[in-house]
Amino acid sequence: MSASDVSAWCESHGMKRFRAKQILEWVYQHGEPDQLKWTNLSERDRRCAKEELSVLTGRTISHQLATDGTQKLLIQWDDGPASADPLRVLAEDSSLQTECVMIPSLGQDVHRKTACISSQVGCPVGCKFCASGLSGLDGNLSAGRIVEQAWRLGQLEGVGRISNIVFMGMGEPLSNFKPVVNAVRTLSAAPPEGMGIGARRITISTVGLPKAIERLADELELPVTLALSLHAPNDDIRRELIPWAEYTSIDQLLSACSKWFAKTGREITLEYTLLGRLNDQPHHAKELVGVAKSLRANINLIRYNEVDGLPYKRPRDNDVTRFQTILRDGGLNCHIRASRGRDIAAACGQLRHEHQTDSPS
Ligand code: SF4
Repeated sequence: MSASDVSAWCESHGMKRFRAKQILEWVYQHGEPDQLKWTNLSERDRRCAKEELSVLTGRTISHQLATDGTQKLLIQWDDGPASADPLRVLAEDSSLQTECVMIPSLGQDVHRKTACISSQVGCPVGCKFCASGLSGLDGNLSAGRIVEQAWRLGQLEGVGRISNIVFMGMGEPLSNFKPVVNAVRTLSAAPPEGMGIGARRITISTVGLPKAIERLADELELPVTLALSLHAPNDDIRRELIPWAEYTSIDQLLSACSKWFAKTGREITLEYTLLGRLNDQPHHAKELVGVAKSLRANINLIRYNEVDGLPYKRPRDNDVTRFQTILRDGGLNCHIRASRGRDIAAACGQLRHEHQTDSPS
């Protein structure tokens, strides 16, 4: 529910409008999901809220802490008729699970605390190297459930205030468009109406749906960052890795990204996962320079985290640094993203995959 939904709900239940502000403060500022503990509401209003408002609709079934401080949650959504979420779009299934990850800062920026959240249960794209896409799409997440992941991560011990959000967990955010946009509005809304995370610090990462990129530029008034998962320097390799690349060429994606830049004035981030020997060689880097220099973009290089059962390899350190040097020599702004949480299977979809593989059901 947005802040105005909560106001409307209060009014329709005979409560003063200021109750909405109090309710939102309990949820987003005090982090108190139990309606009966909202002590500045009358007992009647607390009971009414308990009966009709679901603050949390999932439960954490696994919590892992890595040696580098990265924390990962596996959340299960036990759908039931009591769910009050108006945007509920998940199928009635008792085993739907999503992952989210809390990544603490590394190095100088001690205030940077990044929550990586999911937009879907599973993923329809099915990238060949990714654990999330292994069994396809099980459902979309509502806006409430997307926000709930960030809320739960913010409640973990020692986390405090989340500074950044990345939609780089399970799912293709732009194929669950409305809930993602509504979630971004709540995540970025100033307290008490939301979590107060600046829109510029929210990154939506997409495998590339040109029409949806243009729609996002048109409809979302907030200055979010867009990241395009390129992962290949040419269409042939991209099609090998990403089934949806069959329908969209790199040229079409770059054209949508140029329109995004023209409309929003904000640079794109290109995400490039380096897979050992497959797309991490010097000729790949040179080809990528040719592709990327037409665009105002920053490039993030990501070392692949190996997934059990998949044939792809982590790149060698020398190949990674050589790749970065070629991009920089080609005039591109390029960073190697630090690998985090390797000891807790922090790559997208791995924990869920392992949990389901281990489960006797
Ligand atoms: S890499 Fe992203 S888009 Fe591809 S299958 Fe995994 S979650 Fe989906």
